[in-house]
Amino acid sequence: MTEPRKYLQGETGEWEVVIGLEVHAQVASKAKLFSGASAEYGAGPNENVSLVDAAMPGMLPVINKFCVEQAIRTGLGLNAQINTWSRFDRKNYFYPDLPQGYQISQYKDPIVGEGEIEIELDDGETLTIGIERLHLEQDAGKSIHDLAPSESYVDLNRSGVALMEIVSKPDMRSAAEASAYFDKLRTIVRYLGTCDGNMEQGSMRADVNVSVCRAGNYAKFKETGDFSHLGTRTETKNVNSIRYVRQVVDYEARRQVQVLEAGGEIDQETRLFDVKTGETRTMRSKEDAHDYRYFPDPDLLPLEFEQAWVEEIRGTMPELPDEKKRRFAADYGLSPYDAAVLASDREKADFFESVAKGRDGKLAANWVTTELFGVLNKMDKEIGESPISAGQLGGLIDLIQDKTISGKIAKTVFEIMLEKGGEPADIVEREGLKQVTDTGAIEAAVDKVIAANPAQVEKVKEKPKTLGWFVGQVMKETGGKANPQAVNEILRAKLGVE
Ligand code: ADP
Ligand code: MG
Repeated sequence: MTEPRKYLQGETGEWEVVIGLEVHAQVASKAKLFSGASAEYGAGPNENVSLVDAAMPGMLPVINKFCVEQAIRTGLGLNAQINTWSRFDRKNYFYPDLPQGYQISQYKDPIVGEGEIEIELDDGETLTIGIERLHLEQDAGKSIHDLAPSESYVDLNRSGVALMEIVSKPDMRSAAEASAYFDKLRTIVRYLGTCDGNMEQGSMRADVNVSVCRAGNYAKFKETGDFSHLGTRTETKNVNSIRYVRQVVDYEARRQVQVLEAGGEIDQETRLFDVKTGETRTMRSKEDAHDYRYFPDPDLLPLEFEQAWVEEIRGTMPELPDEKKRRFAADYGLSPYDAAVLASDREKADFFESVAKGRDGKLAANWVTTELFGVLNKMDKEIGESPISAGQLGGLIDLIQDKTISGKIAKTVFEIMLEKGGEPADIVEREGLKQVTDTGAIEAAVDKVIAANPAQVEKVKEKPKTLGWFVGQVMKETGGKANPQAVNEILRAKLGVE
């Protein structure tokens, strides 16, 4: 599907699409943000609920230092300002799955301020997307309405689980950009280990803000920072896959253009995405928007730490995907595309590096991305479950590089490694797949082919390009084991072809 990058064509002219994402990423922490209860997914109903999470009277929250550290790490990964002084606020609203009657969040003074990340589009273009802030907050519980016809149930396991809310600037301009951004955020938090990025389990979800405006107005907004140049936005809640983000933006942008072109107005409202129909619908409009009456939580002191701690954390940061991508391109001579594919996942990147180290980088990248990833995809396996280890694949590449086997035979060896396992050198030995570099043996095969094909011999003298046919025949004769370069040279000499 091709989609408009910057403009959406309506009935009455061109429109621009503007998107900002608020992403909730669950901190990969064993315990909750303000209590010692387990934050693990998949426990039975209400098994992971402490008195604090249930909001029993007199209970006091205690900040989990590990969660704070993960927020700082993530902030550093987003190239963002780390605020050594921040504060927790109460966001007040009533809901049965929120026993406190408020959520502890950060409002005016978040732990992480402005930053930016790079995203890559399919056509190879790289864009910078601004980060507005990252703050820490607690998750709410879950109401379950479909267990019994006349009752609702509440599961407080998630109540108090630590979330990082990462708010982007309205810098994305198409469905492709929005989904690439979401994907990149996921890659970054997974590299850092601060969130497992598991979208099916709800560890990462996005609120997708979309508006449209007449062509040219976005530039005015960029120039002045004045939001009134932009259209009214809708916010579609809890979108939990990269593909759904794409669908929400596509659907919302088209819907808003239709409403506006029919003379209507866009309501600043909260919407829900229906995965079955691919459409969004109204959840609540601005009129019933909450007044959250934010105020600093009197049960918690401001969150203050030394810059030295930030530097200590910075010192333990892994190489991030963008740096890795650049290094792979420079050190191994990879194309930006291959470098990005390999760097997109830490395990894949590590696997590639152990294959490529001390070997031809391009050859290694080719075997890892085309052959191995292709097979793993088909088998629906992760890199960690690869039936061929990095050491074994490296060994196979050594055999190609030292000309023990040709690239073609290497594919046969690869197949055997996949099916039966084993070391490539042993397989080559056992199956007698060694490349024939012995010119005597090759000459014999060449003579045989020439003698059997007089008509072709006449032809090749007029049309030297048909030499390839002879190469094929000789390879067949030698079971694919002849060294192709030697075959070429001997054939040229015997046939008198330049
Ligand atoms: P709130 O917390 O009330 O939802 P924020 O100011 O935090 O509001 O913004 C939420 C998100 O909406 C941010 O990601 C921001 O970039 C985005 N946003 C703001 N205005 C627009 C707009 N006109 N069109 C698209 N996105 C917008
Ligand atoms: Mg919002």
